[in-house]
Amino acid sequence: VTLGPWLQLAGADALLPAFATAHSHAFQRGMRGLAQRPGPAGTDDFWTWREAMYRLALSLTPERVLAISRVAFRELRAAGTLTVGEFHYVHHQPDGTPYDDRTVMAEAVIEAAKAEGVRISLLRTIYHRGGPGKPAEGAQRRFSDGDLDDALRDVETLLARHGADADVRVGIAPHSVRAIPPAWLAPIAAFAERHALPLHMHVAEQPAEVAACVAETGRRPVELLAEAGLLGPRFVAVHATHLAPAEAELLGRAGAVACINPTTERDLGDGHPDLASLRAAGVRLCTGIDSHVSTDPFEEMRGIELGERLRTLRRVTDRTTSPTLAERLWRAASLEGARAVGFDDAGGSVVIDREALQLALVDDEHLLDALVFSAGPSVVKGVVPSGNSTAR
Ligand SMILES: [Zn+2]
Repeated sequence: VTLGPWLQLAGADALLPAFATAHSHAFQRGMRGLAQRPGPAGTDDFWTWREAMYRLALSLTPERVLAISRVAFRELRAAGTLTVGEFHYVHHQPDGTPYDDRTVMAEAVIEAAKAEGVRISLLRTIYHRGGPGKPAEGAQRRFSDGDLDDALRDVETLLARHGADADVRVGIAPHSVRAIPPAWLAPIAAFAERHALPLHMHVAEQPAEVAACVAETGRRPVELLAEAGLLGPRFVAVHATHLAPAEAELLGRAGAVACINPTTERDLGDGHPDLASLRAAGVRLCTGIDSHVSTDPFEEMRGIELGERLRTLRRVTDRTTSPTLAERLWRAASLEGARAVGFDDAGGSVVIDREALQLALVDDEHLLDALVFSAGPSVVKGVVPSGNSTAR
């Protein structure tokens, strides 16, 4: 029986590398159930959902961020996740004034992760404007950095406070081509390079954002990022939904990663990326829980492939046989996600109940395939951290 390198059987348990979610906005866990009825606009899409998300963002305090994030991380860990990349952008007071302790909101998220026993990479987001020629307004003022140097100093503050913690990483995340003036991109890339930081960015989540980028710069988003020097092995393009094939090639040539967030992208009506182009270009893949609309790492993992089946009207869209499709999907949802946010390994194992009803009638040879395509968090007994992690 070939189980592959990913799966160990131990009595009634099966052990696999723990899940890692490379893209999370923990505070959005506070929105669960709140944006599933028709809104006032007549049509509902990403942009109307964003209004509901902004209302929540305006209400947050450091205490509330801590409380919501603890729920989010507790649920993630119970589902088998040991690592989270937190794309954190609610920095300032509701009117945009920084707190006396400028990084207090980021500290609240880090504290929540440590309290719940998950490793965290705090991806300090840089945000400036509402769009080309549009200042930040409303809730965006909480996100908005008036001055790039102040924002970069916040990253340095977080590095100084947490650099020695084996369970914490710090990265930098220019929010999107919409929120970042083109002139800020190269200095952010240089800063990330100087500190060897994970560099994450929302890329091409919505067609309107791509069109606005072309109108402002004459370039598609990934073309712009390539020119500014952002692309490289530490670059993670979050979503990568509406790319041209040439943009996938730019990511692949740079050794960059694409973070796919299937449950959120479905929920928001974002669309599904052209996975065939990403795979052909050799772009590495990982997964993210993003909006926490549901907490199911199995669903994120298989969502990469199942979305591609819906998009292409085909089955088994990746025909490589070694490693198997299931092995590659598990790797994307565990080790690749952890690496994408700055950790060297998955941080431990997820313990699967081999005797769970969802796995009944499944033989050992097909166990991993069944886990990836047919199981869910109810088969998870727990997680076992390993190595130098102090997450318990
Ligand atoms: Zn996001």
